[in-house]
Order: sequence, then structure tokens, then C-alpha cells
Amino acid sequence: MDIIKPFMLEDGLFRGSFISADDAISKMMENHNYPPVVQSYLTQVALLAIALSAGIKYNGVFSLQIKGNGPISTLFCDITTDYKIRGYAVYDKERLTGELSNMNDAIGHGQMLFSVAQIGQEPYQGVVALTGNSLTDTVKEYFKLSEQIATDIVLRQNKNEARLIILQQMPDKQGISAEEKADLWETVSILLNSVKDIELFSEKLTPDEILFRLFHANGITVFPDNIPSYECRCYRDKMFGFLKKLSSSEREELYQDGKITTGCQFCNEQYIFTREDFE
Ligand SMILES: [Zn+2]
Repeated sequence: MDIIKPFMLEDGLFRGSFISADDAISKMMENHNYPPVVQSYLTQVALLAIALSAGIKYNGVFSLQIKGNGPISTLFCDITTDYKIRGYAVYDKERLTGELSNMNDAIGHGQMLFSVAQIGQEPYQGVVALTGNSLTDTVKEYFKLSEQIATDIVLRQNKNEARLIILQQMPDKQGISAEEKADLWETVSILLNSVKDIELFSEKLTPDEILFRLFHANGITVFPDNIPSYECRCYRDKMFGFLKKLSSSEREELYQDGKITTGCQFCNEQYIFTREDFE
């Protein structure tokens, strides 16, 4: 299932999204042959990137990057305003041993970086140290520290499927006391965490039905959904343009057996150029 389903609770006091991107993520993994643990972490990054981008207004590219000193050293996903997602992971095969279910064992110490690139605007960037036991812990910490927005996230994986539900408090809601707000937040957060895997991965329940089951007493309103899909934005002309800008002596250094081979780290596409291409 590939869906971004936005919703709102308690008359707009809280908003959230139900996210699943099974097809898009499996296409993203094609041609890479990632070990299962790398696939699992990259899936988490993809869902978090979709969830975070769904909560902001932007016109460009949102990216989420994780850098660490563990066996998995880079996880990167970006998503465009029209929900095209791509991503890749860098890892050290030799060090990928054991369970690695704890973020510290898999990624080690490091950082999570958020950025939004928009045409004609200064890029927005945020950074937070990897915290807690998981990437979702880190995202929650980021919102708590930098934006002071209460955030809760449920992210579950089951074989090749993954589901995420994010819930956030809207900061500017008026006409309600802080105490009342905190009580309501506690309630919806408990309800969110009560969701069962059997519901999340049910073939019979739609996202709307899952959300209504959880939040029917909290004035839930659901909005029209969006569909995330996989797409890499690399293309031969872009690579060619980059190589053409180099001086001919710089380019000469790149030839091997009369060819320059450049690859895209996102989709693993190989582009081959010969000297004739630059004449
Ligand atoms: Zn590509």
C-alpha cells in the first residue's frame, strides 16, 4: 500500500498522517542488494522523510539524512513536493554483524539532518544528534528541542511492509488551557500507541478505518490522500553537463579504457561517456 493520509483531531488541536509506501520503497531498494538490516533502516528513513515533509508547506525538495560512525554510515532520502521519493544507504559489510536492532549498534553516534531546498529561497536546515534507541526517538527529540512541538510517532515493520502514524500538537491553537491541551495530548498519544500490528498490517482495514478505530472519540477528520511514488531525478544530460564543465585535462583523468563511467548513487544507473561525446 502506498498512501499519505492526513488527518486532524480535536478540532485542529492535533494533526497527523498515516503513511505507507511499500511499493515506492521496494523500487528504491531495487538494484542495490542491501542486507535486510540496511533495508529496514532505509525504510524507516523513507517513512520519516514522507511524514516530516507532509507536515510542512514547501515547494521543492525535502531531505532527511542520517550520518553515523557505526556499520551503517549514511542513510539518505529526499522527497519532492509532488511526493516523488528516492534514497540510498552506505554501509560497511564487514561490520554488519549481529542483530543491530538498536540504533546505536547499527548507526552509532551521529546526527540527523533535515533540509528543505526551494527555488528562489534560502534553504532551511535543521540538525539533531542521534538520541534514544531509534530514529523515531531522534525525530521526537528534534521537535521537542527546536520547535517545541509535542510529537509522537508509531513506526512498525513487518517483513517487506511498514506503516507509520505521526501525531503533532499544533502550536497556535487558541481558546484552550495548557492543562486541557496536555490532558488531551496524553489521551491521543496513548491511543496512538495502542494500535496493534494486526490492525496496521491488516488486508481488510483501510487507513481511514484504522484511524477511526483509534480516534473515533477525538473528533477525527480525514483529508484526501496523496500517493508517494519512487522516482530518481538523475538523467544522462545532467551527468553530461557536469562532465562538460570540467577542463579537458580534468576530464582526461577520469577516463578508464577510453570511457568515463558515472553512476547515480540513488538508482545505481550507470552512464557511460566516450571522448567523442565531448568533441
Ligand atoms: Zn538516479
